Amino acid sequence: MSTTTQVQSTLTAADRCDRCGAQAYVRVALPTGGTLLFCGHHFRDNETPLRDSGAVIFDETSKLDRKPEPEPDDE
Ligand SMILES: [Zn+2]
Repeated sequence: MSTTTQVQSTLTAADRCDRCGAQAYVRVALPTGGTLLFCGHHFRDNETPLRDSGAVIFDETSKLDRKPEPEPDDE
């Protein structure tokens, strides 16, 4: 059975933030065709420029029903 290639929108514990290696909660499909994975913290750091660039954002933080990360002290 042949299905068209579809966007896998489910992140798992094996998906890691590209910036820090923490578990990824947000996947970003870039207009250029690449995909980035972010933890909650790094997604917030990059959210505005990513949205401005037209990237498609799959935010699974709510699906995971996780408490928000505490604010880091070294901001
Ligand atoms: Zn991160």
